[in-house]
Amino acid sequence: MTPFASAILKWYDAYGRKELPWQKNKSAYTVWLSEIMLQQTQVTTVIPYYERFLARFPTVIDLANAEQDEVLHLWTGLGYYARARNLHKAAKIVAEQYGGEFPKDLEQMNDLPGVGRSTAAAVLSSVHKLPHAILDGNVKRTLARNFIVEGWPGQKKVENKLWEYAEQHTPRKDVDKYNQAMMDMGALVCTRSKPKCTLCPVSTMCEANKLDKQLDFPGKKPKKEKPVKETWFVMLYHDNQVWLEQRPQSGIWGGLFCFPQNETAEIEHQLDLRSIQEQNIQSNETLIAFRHTFSHYHLDITPVLVKLTKQPDLIMEGTKGLWYNLSQPEEIGLAAPVKQLLESLPFELDTCV
Ligand code: SF4
Repeated sequence: MTPFASAILKWYDAYGRKELPWQKNKSAYTVWLSEIMLQQTQVTTVIPYYERFLARFPTVIDLANAEQDEVLHLWTGLGYYARARNLHKAAKIVAEQYGGEFPKDLEQMNDLPGVGRSTAAAVLSSVHKLPHAILDGNVKRTLARNFIVEGWPGQKKVENKLWEYAEQHTPRKDVDKYNQAMMDMGALVCTRSKPKCTLCPVSTMCEANKLDKQLDFPGKKPKKEKPVKETWFVMLYHDNQVWLEQRPQSGIWGGLFCFPQNETAEIEHQLDLRSIQEQNIQSNETLIAFRHTFSHYHLDITPVLVKLTKQPDLIMEGTKGLWYNLSQPEEIGLAAPVKQLLESLPFELDTCV
């Protein structure tokens, strides 16, 4: 075992996290579920989602048998919805191809939708103690600082260098504890902006600490201005219900329910498409615009609340839509800004003519 690994393991015994919900009665299913949720999301945010998921889908078979709408509904608010769609697809593969047991082979695990090398290694090392190295964002940061790995980890050659260090230091014994310790180190000690070097078990080995250049590692992503796009949400409202349509499976908010969208302020086209007659429009109010930011662009959203005098029969060919009752909401996946608007709608209705 390398001195680095030994120091990390000793630290884990004293300070590592051992009471997280997915560390109790763990199985490949529970660890995989938590790992997918923890991609790009913090532990405190994940815990209630994890608990709700597990209560509703106690086994991978239960998850595989669920409707995608329900999975997306339980995921609403956690973001990066491709994770939820992949989670559901992977559950179906485990149920159908592996008889409900997650594979123990790293490659087979890695091949499941949404998994990837580090997540596969995290599951197998945690549950079966197989000596596979992990390399999530927290581990990348600690390793990049310790071994002063130059460059942005999003570049293949930088990532490969980090994998080399990760493999070199991952012990064969106590790999489950070591991998958990490395995740904890990055989350609790070697944090992004204020690393607690005085509390760090590897501070005397850490090259960035010796040079007092901790914040220079890992290298930053080259800056690129995010483009700004605009959209108008057409909120068709009648008798405490709003019309929502399911988005295509691919692209933003894939499979989630959303208001009809228009690329300009002229929303008449959207009304025509749904055969809404002018005499059936009671009022048409433009609400306050707001910005939703994706990883690759900003989306400026202007909601337009269209109150109708009667509920039309909105059957759109090739589109799944529903009248969403504000008092008795359906269990469906909602895009985050849609959820936000639905929550504020009772207030808007009070203030609109
Ligand atoms: S000494 Fe500081 S920078 Fe180096 S690994 Fe520890 S916390 Fe991170």
